[in-house]
Amino acid sequence: MSAGAVAVVTGAGSGLGKAFAELWLERHGPVVGVDLAPERVEWLTGTRAGRHPAAALAADVTDAAGNEAAVRLAEERFGRLDAVVLSAGITAWGHIESLDLAVYDRVMDVNVRAGVLGIRAAAPALRRSGGGSIVVLSSVSGTGGEPEHWAYCTSKAAITNLARSAAVDLAPDGIRVNVVAPGPTHTELTRPIKDTRPEKYEELRRSLPLGRWGEQEEVAEAIAFLASPASSFITAAVLPVDGGATGR
Ligand code: NAD
Repeated sequence: MSAGAVAVVTGAGSGLGKAFAELWLERHGPVVGVDLAPERVEWLTGTRAGRHPAAALAADVTDAAGNEAAVRLAEERFGRLDAVVLSAGITAWGHIESLDLAVYDRVMDVNVRAGVLGIRAAAPALRRSGGGSIVVLSSVSGTGGEPEHWAYCTSKAAITNLARSAAVDLAPDGIRVNVVAPGPTHTELTRPIKDTRPEKYEELRRSLPLGRWGEQEEVAEAIAFLASPASSFITAAVLPVDGGATGR
């Protein structure tokens, strides 16, 4: 296979990060996949015919060293860095008055602070490549309140504006930063809603003009568009991939 554009993706062990990594390996170039535990990124190791090479890293994205190690691995193994996708994320449910603040702090650390660390780690390497693209996963939950979902909604509003601010700071170096804001999509993150809260699952389904939940491959297409030069004049943008939820 030709060398291709090199991507780092966090949260590569599951859901949207994994679907993006699969797509990138098939169509674009090498991937360094990061997730919490080795078994989550094991699927990236080994070669598959017709696919670009990949490398795996077990790291916690709330740790600056983990983010830096991922970028170093991309440059050492594949010679450069072209795109970074920050998909690692967690959610938490609980009333504004009762959710444990330690849980809130963890949501903010993983969903927001890790975004700062990921962008900071990526920028010098993208600059060395002459520019590149960072795609941040926010959510439709970042644009309004939802019952007992305040910690997540707060984190997603923050990461959206963090990305837009970073886009402005990094634009002079040819580094684009964009946001994908998915609506309800079938992944491990949302499986508990499907499995244990059928009324909530159905309520969300009905709230979407397209009348169904999204699939992870559909979101991966949007991430890959923003990660690749196909979107070369787009930065500081938020792309909803939400079955029409925010456009109604
Ligand atoms: P997922 O749970 O399927 O995958 C997330 C991955 O991130 C997991 O493999 C998990 O191990 C990893 N991760 C979590 N904390 C980490 C940490 N500290 N360090 C390293 N890795 C860590 O979730 P998903 O549905 O693929 O979500 C991906 C992103 O998209 C998240 O930011 C999420 O908030 C966002 N999102 C998802 C949906 C949806 O409906 N699935 C909707 C809107 C936004």
